[in-house]
Amino acid sequence: MNDFEIIHRGDSNGNQWIIRLPLPSGRTLWGLATENIYGGDWDLGPTWNYIVQGDHPFLIDTGRFGMGGRLLKMMKQTDLEPGDLKGIFLTHGHEDHDGGLPELAQDTNASVWVHPLYDLLRCSYPSQAPPVTKEDFSASCWHCFMPETFTRSHCREYHRQRDGLKTNRLEGLRFPLDGAVHLHHLPGHCPDALAYQIGSEALIVGDTLLPDITPHPSQEAFYPLIQPLLPPEFPPLSGWYGLRAYIRSLKRLAALGREFPRMQVLPAHRLFYNDRWGTIELGKRSEEIIEHHLQRCASILEVLKDGPQTAEEIARAYYQPKLLKGFGIKMAENEIKSHLEFLEHSGDIHWTTEGKAASTGKADFEDYIRRIDPDQNT
Ligand SMILES: [Zn+2]
Ligand SMILES: [Zn+2]
Repeated sequence: MNDFEIIHRGDSNGNQWIIRLPLPSGRTLWGLATENIYGGDWDLGPTWNYIVQGDHPFLIDTGRFGMGGRLLKMMKQTDLEPGDLKGIFLTHGHEDHDGGLPELAQDTNASVWVHPLYDLLRCSYPSQAPPVTKEDFSASCWHCFMPETFTRSHCREYHRQRDGLKTNRLEGLRFPLDGAVHLHHLPGHCPDALAYQIGSEALIVGDTLLPDITPHPSQEAFYPLIQPLLPPEFPPLSGWYGLRAYIRSLKRLAALGREFPRMQVLPAHRLFYNDRWGTIELGKRSEEIIEHHLQRCASILEVLKDGPQTAEEIARAYYQPKLLKGFGIKMAENEIKSHLEFLEHSGDIHWTTEGKAASTGKADFEDYIRRIDPDQNT
């Protein structure tokens, strides 16, 4: 059960919903759900953006590109005026979260605060882009698997406006507006992923924990692309990418759940979906997702019993055909690649000279997951 007051009831998947949650500290939390492009069998539902209303009200996430104006309109149904916002923050640098940022930054007086890595990767680096055809892309999108015809027509303006943002960096991960807000860096799904903890009352967790579904992990293979961009003040960030990083972040969340078992968890998708609330228990859900990835590693090793296979072949053997339609095969293949990187670390697979994953005959991944140290500072 939850204590949400429904301010506006949108559709059965949560699109256009507005909810209000009074917190014991006197702050009020508003959830505003902005539409995303329907993703078929991979659908996430809308993006839930949150406003924390206290002495210095702030917004976390801004919906997909083009949703800034919609969010401002939705704000009219809260107790706040756009001019009341003192800051805009992000859970991570994916388009369904930062797409509305340029418009909101322009139409409010709020300052924009971002993770230092986000600030670096939102920019384009024409002389360093891997293929020259991506010279006007944000560095964070260099690894994108979508065909260039798609990204040219859909993302160009998004990249251009991101590049022109005026931002402040969250140096030292200190929250500038409210002493009760604590930031958690939770790389894995995205290297700049942050969760915002409001006292012991609420955790705005982005895509890192979702009800029913799990976000796709990034890949360690993305890191060498951006590594040459890192200025000397950035430590090596290889540990911020891939499934290992994600498991580490989930272990941190599980520990946080043990410390604050009653904390309200607010996800960026599926807070309300398919006519029901997606309630998250922090510790339990974190453990469930770790278990889900364990199961997937086991299934991949099972598929490899038939001999070496490419990531695509494994995806076709593992996923239901309906999930492989259209771009689905690319999503599935990327998910498998993250797990193959992990299984290589645990010593359970190796790569053949033909670029196929082959079983080593071992199954040490479970032990390997157990040994991942949540406190390791990478
Ligand atoms: Zn995301
Ligand atoms: Zn998302």
